[in-house]
Order: sequence, then structure tokens, then C-alpha cells
Amino acid sequence: MEPPGSRSHGPLNPQQLLELALRRLREGTLSREHQPRLFAGHGRQDCCSLCSEAIGPEDIEYEVETTDDGTAAQQLRFHRPCYYAWLQACGSEPDPR
Ligand SMILES: [Zn+2]
Repeated sequence: MEPPGSRSHGPLNPQQLLELALRRLREGTLSREHQPRLFAGHGRQDCCSLCSEAIGPEDIEYEVETTDDGTAAQQLRFHRPCYYAWLQACGSEPDPR
């Protein structure tokens, strides 16, 4: 049972991805990382940390390890466009600290 349109809409456009990334950063559901450690490889059907779509083997998965001050490292996974939207979002709002 899946809500209609949940699988077939395809990737969001870059503007939608950026808005989503900005919202997630504000909500704190995505961490802000200026110098992430990055690994790229083929997807393994894991869910993207931004758009929540599975990253299939035909996609490149960008895996990011964040190192927020003192807290445990967090693993994030992104599609390529999602990764760039997240990077852009990280750099486009003032750091609250
Ligand atoms: Zn994605």
C-alpha cells in the first residue's frame, strides 16, 4: 500500500530539493556540515537522507560522514542532485553558532 504518486514522481527538481534541504536544516533533521567526509559509490537501495527515495544501483550514492561537535558521527546518504542541494543549503544560511 503506497500513497499515489509516491514512487513515480521521479527526482524533484533542483529548486524543490534546495527548499527541502533548507527546511530540513532549519528543523534540525539534517545536520549542517561544511567539510564533510564524502564517499561515492553505487546505491544499495538505501533511502536518501534528503528526498527519502531509495538510491538504486543505477544511481550514484553520495555517502557523507558528519562530525558534529562532540556528538556521534552521523551517516547521511544522498543522490547526486540531493547532495548538491544539501551543500548549497548548508552554505546559504548563516551558521547559528
Ligand atoms: Zn535524494
